Amino acid sequence: MIIDTHMHLLDERFNIDRSLVIARAKQVGISKFIEVTCEVKSWEQARKLAEDEYNIFMSLGIHPINACCIQQYSYNNILQKMAKYHKCVAIGEIGLDYHDKPSYHEVLKQKLCFIQQLNIALNLNKPVIIHCRDAYEDAINILSQYNMGLKGVIHCFSGSLKYAQEFLKLGFLLGVDGPITYSTKLQYVISQISINNIVVETDSPYLVPNKHKNHITRNEPCYITSIIEQIAKIKNISYHTVLKHTTNNALKLFNLK
Ligand SMILES: [Zn+2]
Repeated sequence: MIIDTHMHLLDERFNIDRSLVIARAKQVGISKFIEVTCEVKSWEQARKLAEDEYNIFMSLGIHPINACCIQQYSYNNILQKMAKYHKCVAIGEIGLDYHDKPSYHEVLKQKLCFIQQLNIALNLNKPVIIHCRDAYEDAINILSQYNMGLKGVIHCFSGSLKYAQEFLKLGFLLGVDGPITYSTKLQYVISQISINNIVVETDSPYLVPNKHKNHITRNEPCYITSIIEQIAKIKNISYHTVLKHTTNNALKLFNLK
C-alpha cells in the first residue's frame, strides 16, 4: 500500500482526465491520497472530491504565497469548521516562502497567516503540512515555540542536513518528492536521515521525477514509484522496506487506518 501524501488533483491540468489519473495511481499500488489545498476557494472543491472518492482525504490551508491577499481573520472560522470534517486529515499547505523576496509587510502577513493556522491545527489536534522555501530560520523559530505540541511534515524538503535535523528534533517528518531523483544535495540529506522520518509525496502536477522528464511535463501520483525506488537506492534497502516504513509513517502522522 502506497500513500501519496501530497497532491493537487484539483489543478486544472487534471480537468480532462482526473478519473484516469486516479485509476493509474491505483494500478501502481496507491491506496490513499491526500489532496492539499492552497487557498480558501478550493476548500469546498476538495471536500467534494473527498466525498466522491473513498480513497481521497484532504488538507485545508492557505499557502504563504496567498497569505498577502487574504483578509485576515475572515477565514479562521471557516477553516475551524471545515477542518472538523472527518476526511480532513491535516492543515496545510501553510508556511513561509521568501523565494521571490517578499517585502517586510508581506513577510509579516505570511507569518501571521502561518501562526493563525498553526494555532487552529493545535486546537483541533491535526497535523500540519508545511511549505517552507528559503525561510528555514524563521520557520524553525516559529515551530519551536509550540514545544513539540504540533506534528506534521515539511513538504518537499529541500534544505541542508542541519535544517533537516532541526525539524526532526521538533518532531516533524520530511516529505520527499521528485527532486530526490536528480538533486544530489537532497540525496545526501536523505541518505543521512532515518527512514522512520520520511513520507513520500508527488506534489502533482508539479515536480516530475527525472525519469519521466523527457516526455512528460505534468506530474501525477502514479510516478511516486520513482521516488520510492530512488530512496531505496540511496539507502541501500529494498523497495518494499521503503514502502513499508513510509506508509506506516504516513498512517500514523495523518491518523489514517
Ligand atoms: Zn503542494
